[in-house]
Amino acid sequence: MPSSPSVSIIIPVYNEEQGLAALFARLYPALDALGRSYEIVFVNDGSRDRSAAMLREQFQKRPDVTRVVLFNGNFGQHMAITAGFEQCRGEHVVTLDADLQNPPEEIGKLLAKMDEGYDYVGSIRRQRRDSAFRRHASKLMNVVRERITRIRMTDQGCMLRAYSRDIINAINSCREVNTFIPALAYSFARNPTEIEVAHEERAAGESKYALYDLIRLNFDLVTGFSVMPLQLFSIFGMLISILSFAFVMFLAVRRLILGPEAEGLFTLFGIAFFLIGLALFGIGLLGEYIGRIYQQVRQRPRYLIDAVLEQKA
Ligand code: UDP
Ligand code: MG
Repeated sequence: MPSSPSVSIIIPVYNEEQGLAALFARLYPALDALGRSYEIVFVNDGSRDRSAAMLREQFQKRPDVTRVVLFNGNFGQHMAITAGFEQCRGEHVVTLDADLQNPPEEIGKLLAKMDEGYDYVGSIRRQRRDSAFRRHASKLMNVVRERITRIRMTDQGCMLRAYSRDIINAINSCREVNTFIPALAYSFARNPTEIEVAHEERAAGESKYALYDLIRLNFDLVTGFSVMPLQLFSIFGMLISILSFAFVMFLAVRRLILGPEAEGLFTLFGIAFFLIGLALFGIGLLGEYIGRIYQQVRQRPRYLIDAVLEQKA
């Protein structure tokens, strides 16, 4: 393996035994066809199935271009990619999912864009092959993220992206525990662009993201790149206190003019419930930030590596 190949491909793998064979069968020929020196860095994110064994086998078959990082537990897709970034040596770095939802044949297009001088090539899934719920929810989150962060991406969810060595070095200098790689990379990009890519249905196995994981991930995206939710809250709180002050004055005047009143009980309940809900939401939001600060200050290792399989230079 040349000490710094032209391209590094980073692939996080978590319980993908059913799809790995098909991935290998398409990925290697697609990369061989590019005519660039390359390395593929698979990161096994603590799979409990045969994925690790299959990656070992694949390493035996193509040790010249394959490296395998084996985590000792499940640290999440974005940590797996982070570890891949720290291990890789390529001039350009491409991230890809292991489930063949991102066709490996599209890698060439991303690299052609990099050659034009862009340092970040994002991607937009031409026709997204996911459940209707996922598509709509992610459209909504895209809009929220566009408004409250400075990250500009048409399609935040697609992991098929290419980054320059400078961006990878910048990411490697970060110590963030909860992060969202495409957004973090974007925040370091000088000259980003986007292209359309094909998207396929998951080749085999199931999505590793349940609804709860998706919610957590979107919180990472928002809290990691903006404090605007907190600031909105203080503005909202200010407006409400101005309104309630006016309301109290109004009630005081009525008390003086009309005397004691006891009507409007349910309106009062309505208002109180609304404010309680708002307060709870605010506390929850604070909790999201505080929880992340807590994880960050403990400074535990972000992931633990069992072994790295690579050919001795
Ligand atoms: N993945 C991972 N660790 C996890 C969850 C997922 O490394 O904890 C990998 C998974 O193997 C796949 C990629 O991240 O290569 C994307 O996961 P998935 O396809 O399940 O997500 P979806 O496409 O449904 O958003
Ligand atoms: Mg997928």
